Order: sequence, then C-alpha cells, then structure tokens
Amino acid sequence: MKTIENFNLKDKKVIIRVDFNVPIKDNRILDDNRIVMSLKTIKFAIDHDAKVILMSHLGRVKEVSDKDKYSLKIVAKRLSELLNKDVIFEGTTRGEKLEKAINNLKPGDILLMENTRFEDLNGKLESGNDDTLGKYWASLGDIFINDAFGTLHRAHASNVGIASNLPSGIGFLVKDEIEKLGSAINSPKRPFGVILGGAKVSDKIGVIENLVKKCDYILIGGGMAYTFLKSQGYNIGKSLLDENSIDFCTNILNNYSEKIILPVDSIVSKELGSDAVLKSNNTFENDDIGLDIGSKTIEKYKEILDKCETIVWNGPLGYSEIDKYSNGTKQILEYLSKKDKIVIIGGGDSASAAINFGYKKSFTHISTGGGASLELLEGKVLPGIEVIEDK
Ligand code: AMP
Repeated sequence: MKTIENFNLKDKKVIIRVDFNVPIKDNRILDDNRIVMSLKTIKFAIDHDAKVILMSHLGRVKEVSDKDKYSLKIVAKRLSELLNKDVIFEGTTRGEKLEKAINNLKPGDILLMENTRFEDLNGKLESGNDDTLGKYWASLGDIFINDAFGTLHRAHASNVGIASNLPSGIGFLVKDEIEKLGSAINSPKRPFGVILGGAKVSDKIGVIENLVKKCDYILIGGGMAYTFLKSQGYNIGKSLLDENSIDFCTNILNNYSEKIILPVDSIVSKELGSDAVLKSNNTFENDDIGLDIGSKTIEKYKEILDKCETIVWNGPLGYSEIDKYSNGTKQILEYLSKKDKIVIIGGGDSASAAINFGYKKSFTHISTGGGASLELLEGKVLPGIEVIEDK
C-alpha cells in the first residue's frame, strides 16, 4: 500500500485527512493527543515542500447550533503552537473563498478547513459519502493522504470519497497502527494470548470468532465474563447478562474449551459503588453484581500470560471507571508493563484505562482508534484502507 513517502510532494496540493476529533469543553481542548499524533505526517509534508490542506471531523453536527461547539478554529490555534508555525484557518467547507485560499498556498504552508461534518447539515453529505462532495473535495488537491485511523472503518466523503478520486496513500499514524495490530494478529510470536473484557459479548463476537482461530489463549474478563459463566450454569446474580449471546458462549466454549479461560472469582457489590466483596463463581447470591475479576483470577491470568510472547488486549477487565473495581485491570497492566513481551492495547476503553492509569509508554503499541481497531481485530477490511489498496 502506498504511503506518503511514495509520493513526490514538492509544490503539490496535498490533502491530509487527520483525526482532530479532540475533547473540547468551555472553549478549551482537554486532551491534544490526537493533534500531537498527526504531527509526524504534517511535518513530513511541509519538509517536502507540499502545500498542505488539512481536513478533519469534530464531534457530531446535527443542527446549526452545533457549529459553534464543533468549530476547528481552536484546533488550528493549538496546531500552530505545536508546530511553531502559522496555520491558515478557513472557516468553511466549500466555496470560492476556500478555493482562493488554497490556490494562494505556497510550498510549506498549512491550511486547515472547517469541520467536515458541517456538511452533514446538508443532508448527511459527509457521513453518507456523497459522491459529488467527495469529487469536489478531491478537486481541491493533487494527492490525498489518509492519516485518520479512527475513521477508517467508515466510508465518508472526506476519506473514501476523496480517495476514490485522487492518487492516494496513508500517513505515518495509519501505517503504524496497521503494521502493529496486523503483525500481532497475523504473524504473532507464540504463544499468542488475547485478553478480552468490556461490557457486552455481542460487541465482541466478531473478535472472538476471528482471534480464537489464530491465538493460543483468550482470557475473558469484564461484564462479558458473566454471560460466559451463565452459559456454564453459574448463578451470576444481577451481573451484566447478554441473554442473546448465551448460545454463542456455550458453543464457543464447547469448541475451544482449552483456549477460552474464564474468571474463577469476582469482586461483587449489591449496588454499583456499594461495599465490594470477593466471591468465587459458585458463591454468588441472587442480588450480587460482578464488577471486577478477583484475586485468584488475577493470579491465574498472570500465569497464563507469563507463557505468552504476544498479547493483544481489548476491553477493561472490570468496571474500571470506579476505583474499587479497577484492581484487575490495573494489576494486569502493571504486570505486563514489567515484561519484555509484545503487548498491543487495542483502542477504546482499554486504551483510555492504560493511559489514565499511567502506562502510556509501557507497551509496544496503544491503538488510537476504538471502532477501527475492533474491526481490524475482527479481521475485517476497513473501507478507508480498501479504497487506497485498490489503487
Ligand atoms: P467496551 O466498550 O465493550 O470495551 O466496554 C467498556 C465498558 O465495560 C466500560 O465502561 C466498563 O466499565 C464496562 N464494564 C467492564 N466490566 C464490567 C462489569 N463487570 N459490569 C458492567 N460493566 C462493565
């Protein structure tokens, strides 16, 4: 697949689709990590004398009043600070003024266009991958580089639409994500262990079906563990139950009983946040809610992980937003951070947990994309990648 390094960028108008979908409150950016992550590709383009046109979405724009909340103006300012360089902000997504500003760019200049999702106010043109809009945006540049990993699983006008109409490649962030996740899944150093947690089994069925064939162990935790335990006849009290997935759990455990490992104990409460008590699987009362893996499970999981050379982790092992249920997730993070193993944390809540608990730099890779990394773990071809591969 072509990357930004495969193009001659000199004097070319290079559209880079970045992911500047940062959290903003009271006109302040709360976390600029996504902007920081995009700098490598942007700097490469400037250093190679490209005229850089940046496009990004920010939030969901459903009504005109959302425009103030989701303007990228504040992001342009932060980007300019980080690059120590002027960033031209054009507060529109189409039209003569934007076109003129683009045509006036000199090599090394950067222009950030307004939030692509403003086009959703015209009948979801961006999110619906409107053909005319994709063609129009493509007409603004000579080359398209997609570096927005978090949106690759969606076909939008600002990714698939533009890529269908211009010579296209990927940026460094996307390259890194695909290489790290891809090689861990498809050519792992063995034994290969997978840790799966999070809320519902139904969200992870695709991941389990794909990875169970490729890995040596799947360690289950989080809310989804209780549907597995229920399928084995345990009383799970009032723990999270995904009724429609019980048959799936029964079947997959029958077929892969050696590989799929379930918790043996849990931290339970009568209500979310009330007293937390350690219980083994067969001592749950009808009003117990399982909210974290227990100490025996933690030890058991460490023993199995000790054997593994590659570990892919998706989903926290307990209700880790509340401190008293975060021990399982923290203990396994701490344990893995001290080992010389290939550890990939796959997006979403597990990535936030790893970063918030202080392990940002401890692992081989922490994915920046929730949905996109989940779909890679499911073995799906992402539309934003497929369109570039096809070229
Ligand atoms: P997911 O997006 O599927 O990775 O799920 C993450 C969510 O699952 C987080 O908000 C966790 O708090 C939640 N979660 C983890 N363990 C449990 C549990 N035992 N009961 C209920 N929710 C849980």
